[in-house]
This record gives sequence, structure tokens and C-alpha cells, in this order.
Amino acid sequence: MPPGEAGLITALQGWIRRQPRSDSATYWQVEAHLRLAEELQADTTRRQECLTEYRWVLEHTTPRDSQKARANAGLARLTQERGFHFPGTIRRAVWGALTEDMHEMDPASSMWNWITVHHSAMEVSSKVHGSQAVGHQAVRSIQASHMNARGYGDVGYHFLVDPAGRVYEGRSLKWQGAHARGKNNVGNIGICLLGNFENAPPTRQAQNALHRLVESLRSGFAIGATHVVGHGHWTSTKCPGRHLDAALARYR
Ligand SMILES: [Zn+2]
Repeated sequence: MPPGEAGLITALQGWIRRQPRSDSATYWQVEAHLRLAEELQADTTRRQECLTEYRWVLEHTTPRDSQKARANAGLARLTQERGFHFPGTIRRAVWGALTEDMHEMDPASSMWNWITVHHSAMEVSSKVHGSQAVGHQAVRSIQASHMNARGYGDVGYHFLVDPAGRVYEGRSLKWQGAHARGKNNVGNIGICLLGNFENAPPTRQAQNALHRLVESLRSGFAIGATHVVGHGHWTSTKCPGRHLDAALARYR
């Protein structure tokens, strides 16, 4: 059958629907979602459905490496975020992200031309410095508050950075962020440092990781240094705190 064949798509969807619900998918279930995504990809009017299938594969813990690689490759083709990957980024599936709600997000339609830095304003336990699990938990709780309390489709930031300098994959660059209020989010990449920097500066590791990430984004998307700003550039707020604001002055 040629790719995008409607009969095959319907058959795969039917088979998937008949599978028992379970947290751990079998090899063949993953394979069915992957084949479905690959068939849907041939039809440009079904990109959203295709995206959903690839996401499903990546957010299940059971896919084999070769299956994950196919999903990542398909997603890269689909989302134009091809080419941007920050080495060592902790993937959503690893920190335990909830599945995003695509109906509550806007596609990233314009070029990326701003980078806005925030703080989480939470006092972060010193355990985050050492324990990866505590960092994962902190990122999960921010995502949960954005989705459950604020009704966002996903965590509002594209990247998060913890005090140990770990960088977490937030909202995909496929989508506009939700961090700078309304239209300010268009073309605006959001980065959140975990912690409250009103009274103390971020750790050296967090500042170094932020700088590497910002420089990588700037060169990947040709963003000018003067377009790296704190949340206060857009609206009256203490975010990202006096100390982090002072650190951002290096870009002006
Ligand atoms: Zn902010």
C-alpha cells in the first residue's frame, strides 16, 4: 500500500483501540503507533494526529531504542525544530512530563527572535543540587501547576535549568510558549531557572548552563544579544529576581 493509504490508517487505529489499556506498551503496540504516525506523515492535512502518535511513542517508557530513534526522526521532520538540540537536555519522558494538551497551545508560527528568562520564585531545596530525582520532581510540579491551576496546554517554558546546571526540555519549540503574557509570547523562547533570585544569585553551575543554552539558541535561531531579556522587559514583575536580572545585563 502507498504511504498515507486511508485503509491502512483506519486498520491501525482500529487495532490500537482494541488493545487493553495498560501503562506499559508492548513492542507491537509501539510499532502500531509508529506505523500509524509514519502513514499520517504522508498526509499534510493530518500533522496534528501524526504529532500525537510520535509523542505517544516517546512518552512511553517501553519503546526500544530503534523505535525511539524513528519517533525522534519523524518528529524532527515534522516540527522544523530540526537542528536544535542542546546537548545533555533532560528529555520530557525522563523527568516524567504529563502529556501536553495540544488544543490549549498555539503553533510557533513566527521566527524565534526573543529569549526571556524567568525564575520559578520557589525556594529550591538544596537537595536539587545533588539529586536528579528532586530536580525532576520540581519540574513536574511546575508543569502540573501550569496545566492544572492555570489551564495551560503544557509547562509554559521551553527550557528549565536547575541549581546543579541541568537543563530540562520543557514545552516543545513546535509551540509558542506561555510565559510573557499574550502576544508577547510570539517568537519568544521561555527559560526558567529554578529558585528565587530576589535575595541570592543563581549557582555558578546554573548561570553557566543558562549562558551555554542562551548562546546555543542565539546561534541556532540568529537571535541578537539585546533580545535576551528578563520577564520584567515585558510586564511589571519582580521575575526573574534582582540578582538574575543583574546577571542578564551581560547581554545588553
Ligand atoms: Zn517570569
